[in-house]
Amino acid sequence: MHPSPPFQEIPYGRPNMDVVKTTAETLLERWDQTTSCAEQIALILEWDKNRGEFETNRTMAMVHFRQHTTDPACKAEQEHYDNVMPVILEQNVAFLERVTSSPIRAELEKELGSQVFALWDCFLGTFNPDIAEHKRREAKLRNEYAELLAGLECEFQGKTYTLSELQAFYGDPDRATRLAAQQTKDRVMSAISEPLDRIYHDLVQVRHEMAQALGYETFTPLGYRNMDRTDYNAEDVAEYRKQVRETVVPLAQKIYKRRSQAINIEEISFHDESVRDLKGVPCPKGDHDWMIERATEMFDTLGDDFGYFFRMMTDCELLDLKSRPGKSGGGFCADIPRYGVPFIFANFNGTQDDVNVFTHECGHAFQNWSARHHTLLAYHWPTIEAAEIHSMSLEFLTYPHMEQFFGDDAARFREGHLEGAILFMPYGCAVDEFQHRVYENPTMTPTERAEVWKELEAIYLPHRKYDGMEHNESGRLWQSQRHIYGMPFYYIDYCLAQTCALQMWNTANQDRDDTMERYRKLCSLGGSLPFTKLLDEVGLVSPFDENCLKDVCAAVQETLGLS
Ligand SMILES: [Zn+2]
Repeated sequence: MHPSPPFQEIPYGRPNMDVVKTTAETLLERWDQTTSCAEQIALILEWDKNRGEFETNRTMAMVHFRQHTTDPACKAEQEHYDNVMPVILEQNVAFLERVTSSPIRAELEKELGSQVFALWDCFLGTFNPDIAEHKRREAKLRNEYAELLAGLECEFQGKTYTLSELQAFYGDPDRATRLAAQQTKDRVMSAISEPLDRIYHDLVQVRHEMAQALGYETFTPLGYRNMDRTDYNAEDVAEYRKQVRETVVPLAQKIYKRRSQAINIEEISFHDESVRDLKGVPCPKGDHDWMIERATEMFDTLGDDFGYFFRMMTDCELLDLKSRPGKSGGGFCADIPRYGVPFIFANFNGTQDDVNVFTHECGHAFQNWSARHHTLLAYHWPTIEAAEIHSMSLEFLTYPHMEQFFGDDAARFREGHLEGAILFMPYGCAVDEFQHRVYENPTMTPTERAEVWKELEAIYLPHRKYDGMEHNESGRLWQSQRHIYGMPFYYIDYCLAQTCALQMWNTANQDRDDTMERYRKLCSLGGSLPFTKLLDEVGLVSPFDENCLKDVCAAVQETLGLS
């Protein structure tokens, strides 16, 4: 008996906002009359359950819209939630202010764990009615950025493409084709670089003003709070980036050097960076249904728990992986709290990315499924940097099964994947340091910001050559990185998680069973602890420890034969 009906049969109901309002008000009145720990716990759990029901409907509406973007009814339903969220937010603030200032908070923490209180404190520290207008301005600028980028089209080889479609040519085996594709993107971005500079400048100003209104000196500590970072700060992250500069950047340079030899080029340019050899990118050997069968076999081999989990996902139709007209692009894993099950959305395109859906997105989904025993919704997912450990680790832990998908190309796939993990980190750190520099100096002009980016490229990506691409050479490549506009400081998370996932890869090579057990434990801990405490629980070295990357980079170097 599965915990959820098939996805299409899950009942959906638009929350009645009058009822939501009365329920919230009654809850506050009842809270004000409580005296005992048991009563307060009961009310917190009731609030959490209501929230779970609301989130279930909100997720359903979001998924329906992503599945049918051209259906006006789905769009209207999705917009309904955008409109009511400020009301819900206010209700949550009113309730959580009472909870966190409870005279018996220590007792409550003992029952529910300290992490949820740390998260609630964090959330309350980012909110104040005085910044409502700033929030609106920020949202407007973010939308302006998204719309500007979404509408971009270009002519390439006699056809019209969107920028994401153009990406397919960046790794083309033909050098002239990939150069022309990158030059096309550069021209398109160049044409909008002024408005993009202006939007970012305004975003930095509004974020700085918002931080000052909340009593912070700069936006940085507020940005960290927005990311729910309760156990490390900007100095810790700076220490981590230092390690990447010292340990990862030199290894990345060796990988690029070998790539240049493999494709017979003296010194690789920007448009050559993603090409590993002259054989082309490995692709899975079958279609969607064939891939589901291979994934079922793979998860069965990983253990009964993984096997049951994946069969439950397919039986309950909690996977929507095929591209269709009207379906939105991209991929994600969401959860449906009413049943304690996850849902995976993706768009198969016949490349190695499809395999990553089974390994990366199923890592997120398996974690959420494994953490469903926690009573509080807040513990079903960890904070973002920790959440990516589950997904990125499963990419590595499934290495022994890649023959099932790639046949003879499996070894090439694994090498390319391992190289990719290393090559990503310097770029990720450049994006992170850029943002720290920007928010520390909000009065910088757009030209000064571009100079900072150039400076950071020279440090983190010293091999980089743009061969006359005007926009990239002007220090504005970061303008295509949507996180910088949309979610400040959200990016280093991928580097921190990758650092932990690489440790999982390394220990799995020595003791696979023990590593799989630690992986399971990490999944089941969910979000019950902050990032560094989760690492302690499963014997992972914190990325903020000064020697964290040394061993793991040495192991990668040896495996790749680059020593
Ligand atoms: Zn992910």
